[in-house]
Amino acid sequence: MAGEPQSDCLFCKIVVGEVPATIVRETETTVAFRDINPQAPTHVLVIPKVHHPDAGTLAAAEPAVAADVLREAAEVAAQEKIDGTGFRIVFNTGTGAGQTVFHAHAHVLGGRGLEWPPG
Ligand code: C5P
Repeated sequence: MAGEPQSDCLFCKIVVGEVPATIVRETETTVAFRDINPQAPTHVLVIPKVHHPDAGTLAAAEPAVAADVLREAAEVAAQEKIDGTGFRIVFNTGTGAGQTVFHAHAHVLGGRGLEWPPG
C-alpha cells in the first residue's frame, strides 16, 4: 500500500534505526541525516517517514508530509547556518537525474559556492 514501509528500502531502514545514520533533526513525519557521501560542506538529506518513491509521488499522495519535508529542509539550513549565504534543495527524480534511492528525499546543500546550471 502507498506509504507503507518497504522491506528492501534503505531509507525505510534508516527511519526505524535498522541502518545507522547521523541524524540532525527528527519530527513526527520526517528524519534529516547527513549524507554518507557529502557533495558540499553541508549535505543533509530530509526524508519523509512514509515510503513514496520520489518527491512528486509523495506530494500527490500526502501533500502535508511533502510540505513538512520542505519546511524541514529550510530548518536544516538554518540549523547548519547556511541560510545566510544561500543553499540548494534538490529532489533528484529518476535514474537519468541521478536518483539512486527510491524513497523520496530532499538534498540540502550549502557551505560553498553552488554553480548554475547543475551538472
Ligand atoms: O538523489 P539520490 O537518490 O542519488 O540520493 C541518495 C543519497 O543517499 C546519495 O547522496 C547517497 O550518498 C546517500 N546515502 C546516504 N546513506 C546511505 C546510502 C546513501 O546518505 N546509507
